[in-house]
Amino acid sequence: KIEITNLKKQFGSNIVLRDINVKVDAGSVVALIGPSGSGKSTLLRCMNLLVIPNGGRIRIGHHTFVFDDGSKMPRAKDQAHFRSNTGMVFQHFNLFPHKTVLQNVMEGPLVVKRMPKAQAAQLARTLLGKVGLADKADTYPDRLSGGQKQRVAIARALAMEPEVMLFDEATSALDPELVAEVLGVMRDLAAEGMTMIIVTHEMAFAREVADKVIFLRDGVIVEEGPARELIDNPKQEATRAFLSHFH
Ligand code: ATP
Ligand code: MG
Repeated sequence: KIEITNLKKQFGSNIVLRDINVKVDAGSVVALIGPSGSGKSTLLRCMNLLVIPNGGRIRIGHHTFVFDDGSKMPRAKDQAHFRSNTGMVFQHFNLFPHKTVLQNVMEGPLVVKRMPKAQAAQLARTLLGKVGLADKADTYPDRLSGGQKQRVAIARALAMEPEVMLFDEATSALDPELVAEVLGVMRDLAAEGMTMIIVTHEMAFAREVADKVIFLRDGVIVEEGPARELIDNPKQEATRAFLSHFH
């Protein structure tokens, strides 16, 4: 279970997140939607401490971190906990080009968790199977399509056995014909009970897969609700205006 309480973030005088409160039940999927610059990426990045909030609290599982004014960095141990419990998948995959697909997926468990090599390799093979890439284990990333690279990136994030997976527009950089294979993997993960927060412009996917949709604008949650309800029947005018761009 994840709980974000009164989360605040500003960059200089630019207030990007204003008292954000979000609850994510274990095993549920939350889709975060909103216009460009509304703070979606910043919110995800706060969750794995790529960005340090200026206030509020984040609880992931049994671990809570309280942020004061942004000047105090979390202790290294807390940082490591947050990072390894949040698997992040970005728009651009950032695979290690000089490592094979298998080595890319093994890297986190080997380096961060100090897992024995044989065990890491076995875990990596299992995860590659799960994302449909068992036969690409010994391939280098430059031989893969964008959709395959993104699936490797998902396997790599899963290898850390995170409590939550965070997807930041994971399909936005892909050619249209490659989007479905990545959404398919995300759909499978959701069905298996993975807790997920996804930033997406794929409204049909959000409607189908998410339990809850949150509409963010100017760093404020304008509206949230069950996915179908919110997408089919938004209550706020701002949500309606935003969603009208998608059909
Ligand atoms: P998009 O849909 O375009 O990805 P977003 O909702 O993800 O937008 P964010 O990337 O979270 O929006 O950005 C929110 C605001 O924070 C923007 O005004 C942006 O310029 C600002 N911002 C984000 N990251 C930084 C940073 N590292 N330093 C300064 N300002 C930043
Ligand atoms: Mg973004």
